Amino acid sequence: MFKRLAVCAAAAMMLCSCGSSEKHQGSVFAMDTYMSLTAYGSSAEEGIKKASEKLNELDKLWSATESGSEIFAVNSSEGKPVSVSDETASLISFAKEMSSQTGGAFDITVYPIVEAWGFTTGEHSVPSEERLNELLEVVGSDKITVSGSEITLPTGSKLDLGAVAKGRAGDICADLMKECGVTSAVLDLGGNIRTLGTKPDGSKWKIGLRDPFSEGIYATLDVGETNIVTSGAYERFFEQDGKTYHHIIDPNTGRPAESGIASATVIGSDGRLCDALSTSLFVLGAKGAEQLYRSRHDFDYILVTDSGEVIMSEGVSGLITFEPGFGEKVSVVK
Ligand code: AMP
Ligand code: MG
Repeated sequence: MFKRLAVCAAAAMMLCSCGSSEKHQGSVFAMDTYMSLTAYGSSAEEGIKKASEKLNELDKLWSATESGSEIFAVNSSEGKPVSVSDETASLISFAKEMSSQTGGAFDITVYPIVEAWGFTTGEHSVPSEERLNELLEVVGSDKITVSGSEITLPTGSKLDLGAVAKGRAGDICADLMKECGVTSAVLDLGGNIRTLGTKPDGSKWKIGLRDPFSEGIYATLDVGETNIVTSGAYERFFEQDGKTYHHIIDPNTGRPAESGIASATVIGSDGRLCDALSTSLFVLGAKGAEQLYRSRHDFDYILVTDSGEVIMSEGVSGLITFEPGFGEKVSVVK
């Protein structure tokens, strides 16, 4: 697959050390996306090197398309148990749990449907109703059995960690960087932002939020150490017969989620939770997001609706600054 070739070509890390401010940057192509790592201080270069190596390692472990990966092994196991690393087993367990916590809006067994729409190859097409119904039979996180580090999945079912892997990877890399002595860094893993510490001068990071309707940003968030993870219809999509189809699937219908949301951002200390929830809130829509938030309050979120309205949890209101022309219609959920 052409994207995989790009991985090999671009996986070699590029480092640039920028003068006396000790700002270092690296970029990696992994998990099907460009990632940019920025760190400050004398340990930055080593931290970026270690994090880049780890990202390539995790990509090899979790890729659904690469034949050497643990996920590929599970997906081609024909119902036999497969032994995986503790890290992979724990992420699969977490994803299964998230499926039940979101009433099935989040489901890593949606992969056969993602494939059917062509999002894994770039050869997009709208599957027939009959085909989708067939595939929905093999979807459902109850089909995954995790026993210690052994995963069992029935023939036909397939896993895809794409909606949770980058969130987990951000936390793993941030921890690695800390071990190297880094106290100030921003990891941009293809729209999943993981910050570490504060800016070198002790002030907050200013993180831009992408406008789902154009190339620019609609707001910035002032944050300390956290995760800011966004799922958007604009990230991957295709058009057929004048209609746009994006990559976030409603596991109930097998079709791209149509919940009235253009982008869903989740902010919190656990990267994998933020990642899983950003996808989930996109599927659940404004009402479902509000219900989920009120039931647990352990994350913050911002939704931009299809009509440009902004809905956010109360923890965000003190962090957000809208760009000129944005933020006219805002509601806050408590
Ligand atoms: P994200 O960008 O984190 O929202 O993840 C989207 C990716 O996760 C898609 O490209 C699919 O590979 C996969 N995916 C799509 N829909 C779902 C879903 N409802 N639950 C879990 N994974 C999904
Ligand atoms: Mg996600």
